Amino acid sequence: MKFVLATRNVHKIEELSRMLSDLNVEILSSRDFPDLPEVVEDGETLEDNAIKKAKEISQATGLPALADDTGLEVAALGGAPGVISARYAGEACSYDDNNRKLLTELESVPDEERGAVFRCVIALATSSGEVTTVEGRTDGIILREPRGGAGFGYDPIFLPNGHARSYAEMSQDEKNAVSHRGRALEAARELISRMM
Ligand code: IMP
Repeated sequence: MKFVLATRNVHKIEELSRMLSDLNVEILSSRDFPDLPEVVEDGETLEDNAIKKAKEISQATGLPALADDTGLEVAALGGAPGVISARYAGEACSYDDNNRKLLTELESVPDEERGAVFRCVIALATSSGEVTTVEGRTDGIILREPRGGAGFGYDPIFLPNGHARSYAEMSQDEKNAVSHRGRALEAARELISRMM
C-alpha cells in the first residue's frame, strides 16, 4: 500500500517517515509530485487545515493522504500563535524570527506563567474521500532563551513538562517519544493499520 505525506517540509518528511517505517507501506510525499497544487492553509483551526490538505492532496494524487497541522498555543498570549505558528512574525519569516518574537512577547512573563501546549492534528483522507482526524498534544513551558541545535521551528525554546531538555536538545527518537506529533502519529498508525 502507498500513501502520501501531504507536506514538502523535509524535517517533517524525515520525522514522519521514520515513525512509520515499521508499517508495511510505501511512503511518498508532496515532493514526489512536482505538479501538485499549492494548498492554501486558510482554515480557522488546525483541524480545518489538516482536513483541507489531506483531502486536496489525496484527490490530486489518487492515493490516501496524511496531513498534519500543528500549532503552539501559549497560555499567557491567549493561545497565540496557534494556527498562525508558521507565520507568527510575518509572511516570509524564519524560525528564528518567530522564536525572537515569542521571547520578546513573553519577556515580562514570570516563569510560572510560561505554560504552552503543542497541538498536532493529523487528518487521513482515503482515495474515496473519507477523512478521519486524530490529535496529539504535549504540554510544556517557553524557555527564556533558545537551547539546543537539533530539530526545527520552536524546538529550541520549548521545554516539555517533566523533562530537563528542550525539544532541540533531544535526539529525534527522544523527541518522537514525547512530542505532540509523535503522539498524534501513534493514533494515526492505528488508523493506517486498519486500512491495510
Ligand atoms: P505545521 O502546521 O506543522 O507546518 O506547523 C506550523 C509551525 O509550527 C511550523 O512552521 C513550526 O514553526 C511550528 N512547529 C510545528 N511542529 C513543530 C515541532 O515539532 N517543533 C517546533 N516547532 C514546530
